[in-house]
Amino acid sequence: MRLTFLGTGTSHGVPALGCGCPVCRSKDRKNKRTRSSLLVEEQGRTILIDTATDFRTQALREKVSSIDAVLYTHAHADHLHGIDDLRPLSYKKHIPLYGSPETLREIHTRFDYIFNSSGQIGGGVPLLRLSPIQSLVFFVLDIPVTAIPLKHGNLDILGYRIANMAYLTDCSFIPGSSRGLLEGLDVLIINALRARPHSTHFSIGEALHEIARIRPKRAYLTHFSHEVDHRALKKELPYGVAPSYDGLKLES
Ligand SMILES: [Zn+2]
Ligand SMILES: [Zn+2]
Ligand SMILES: [Zn+2]
Repeated sequence: MRLTFLGTGTSHGVPALGCGCPVCRSKDRKNKRTRSSLLVEEQGRTILIDTATDFRTQALREKVSSIDAVLYTHAHADHLHGIDDLRPLSYKKHIPLYGSPETLREIHTRFDYIFNSSGQIGGGVPLLRLSPIQSLVFFVLDIPVTAIPLKHGNLDILGYRIANMAYLTDCSFIPGSSRGLLEGLDVLIINALRARPHSTHFSIGEALHEIARIRPKRAYLTHFSHEVDHRALKKELPYGVAPSYDGLKLES
């Protein structure tokens, strides 16, 4: 399996518009963060997790030329609004979109023109097929995927496990019933917004606490705000835990 971190930033991205803080002004390219998304290449298939606002820029940077399926964690703008840029990748075949029934309903409502296009196609719409997840374990083409129910404040969202990799973003609470789905991981990717607590996201301390409970072989933090400096954080983290950054690639 090959993993590419397409984006590792929180909803504003880093730098944040209008901000002059040291991280937003930093020249370290690992402090430049587009909105969070992960590309998973497994058994010759390419699975995208979320279509971040920056999807087109990310796909150009990583030379992504085909997507077999998209898994959605939830419908917040930063994880979804790059959806229209699936257009050129969907002309040869419809791309299936997987997510909870609630998330897919929200996508259908917000991007009605994609699913209810009638008459003139003009510039075109992406050719997408909504595939609501009906059970925690499901198949994307021939690849088994496990949905991991999580809480994002009051919102029910999903993380995903593919083989021994799990991607949990925008999480503030892991229900007890989901913990059994996270055993025996080689790689855990988990959100860690900043040092200070936040009502709908794990802080860095909370993410480290969860990593200690889940005990993956390796863990990577993601979905950072502009309060996080990459180099400073890297020095603080325990063995086996690293901050991710845009463009980071892992083989597992
Ligand atoms: Zn987010
Ligand atoms: Zn800033
Ligand atoms: Zn969110």
